[in-house]
Amino acid sequence: MKAIFRILGTAAAVAATGAAIVIMDKLLNEKAAPIIESIEFPEEAEKDDAEAAKTAEAYAEGEAKAEAEAAAPAEETAPAEEPAAPETEAAPAEAAEPVTLPDLSEERPVCDPEAPNPNPVEAGPAVAPKDENGKYIQFNASKGVILATGDYMNNEAMVKRWCPDVDGYDKKQYQKTGDGHIMAIDAGAKMENLGHTKMMHDFDSGLMYEEPFLYVNMEGKRFCNEDTGFVYMGNITKYLPRYNGANVDANHPDGSLGWYCQIYDSDYMSYANSPVPEQVMTKYIPGAVENPQGVFTNLIDTYKADTIEELAALLDVPADELQKTIDRYNELCDQGTDADFGKKSAYMHKIEKAPFWGVRKHIRVSSIDSGVNTNANGQALDADGKVIEGLYCVGNVGGVFYGGADYPFHQTGLSLGRCYTFGMLAAKHAMGK
Ligand SMILES: Cc1cc2nc3c(=O)[nH]c(=O)nc-3n(C[C@H](O)[C@H](O)[C@H](O)COP(=O)(O)OP(=O)(O)OC[C@H]3O[C@@H](n4cnc5c(N)ncnc54)[C@H](O)[C@@H]3O)c2cc1C
Repeated sequence: MKAIFRILGTAAAVAATGAAIVIMDKLLNEKAAPIIESIEFPEEAEKDDAEAAKTAEAYAEGEAKAEAEAAAPAEETAPAEEPAAPETEAAPAEAAEPVTLPDLSEERPVCDPEAPNPNPVEAGPAVAPKDENGKYIQFNASKGVILATGDYMNNEAMVKRWCPDVDGYDKKQYQKTGDGHIMAIDAGAKMENLGHTKMMHDFDSGLMYEEPFLYVNMEGKRFCNEDTGFVYMGNITKYLPRYNGANVDANHPDGSLGWYCQIYDSDYMSYANSPVPEQVMTKYIPGAVENPQGVFTNLIDTYKADTIEELAALLDVPADELQKTIDRYNELCDQGTDADFGKKSAYMHKIEKAPFWGVRKHIRVSSIDSGVNTNANGQALDADGKVIEGLYCVGNVGGVFYGGADYPFHQTGLSLGRCYTFGMLAAKHAMGK
């Protein structure tokens, strides 16, 4: 069972503990074998070939006809006026023949191993459910199918259609191509209405990400009341200039959204809400610590400099603009009122004492938490709100949970909690428990 947990996602792992499920491709690789063995094939499905033929027909969406046409060479002499229709109609009489599923490998590749990696992080090809002849294999599950394939952030077309707000942002995950959503919609499920809920943050470039220090965009200009909170930076930064920094997705060759810099001076220990001492922060400075522990070295992006000019160069923002912004900010601090953006006076602290600090923030998409409409059992619903029998959509394939709002960070672990919970509920329901 441990192997199953390793290869399945959050929601699927929970669902897998209690039910016979089919999730698609990776179930066919050898690690997943225990699940495949647990699928129960109903006797009727094996005996009733006509029923199986019907299933295959629906699955193939007309491919049976194409197959009949492909078999036509034997009847090449038949006049065009005598189409193959009688042959097709006679098919039930030949139902004793084993059902051959269409080869969909051309039309619907699950993953092209030759395709360019959508992310700069490592991505391996998915394993498709095909037999040794390259034919797709159909599994019939007697108790239900639970889709738990995660979200669709790496499917650009789906993002553009259902969550266009995050199109310009880089994605933290890979291979989240919305396959489960597509399959559910194919089966008649209704996608949750717009807007879809997204989780966006950057906890990795530096510490003190929630501190309302001075924030500047990549042009060195101030752009918001910094007391807004990091939760909302995924909304605010969509109006800022793009930047072509590290960890930018392949589909953002001209730069991505989500970049800004936090600026503070060496007095920060006296005014930060939760100050972090310099000896801890140093490991977030690229190259400052040999083999730093507890950080992702490709994501740390904190800098310390003796002058504003030097800091600007390290952050890659124009030095003159940064200096102008700091001068104005310091002026507002002296006045005691943030006439530009309305930040509370208590958070207005001058940037004046060297060395100066800067963190280049990179907000990316952690998850998109909307899916197809489901009920309290995780059962998929169609456009009329009716249950699609036997189909469950859990985790981020399931929908109508967050109400279309941004992901609520104040309830920690809500996303994972929902995935676990609905995986369990769906499995129980499918098992009749
Ligand atoms: C950096 C980061 C930090 C996060 N922090 C938190 C947090 O603190 N708290 C919180 O609650 N949430 C957090 N989340 C979000 C949370 O991790 C996800 O919402 C949750 O894991 C989604 O679970 P899931 O079961 O829907 O999908 P996943 O866990 O993504 O699992 C889906 C699985 O399906 C597989 N799959 C996809 N397509 C196919 C296919 N066609 N065939 C077979 N398999 C397929 C995938 O490879 C994957 O293994 C964070 C996410 C990130 C990226």
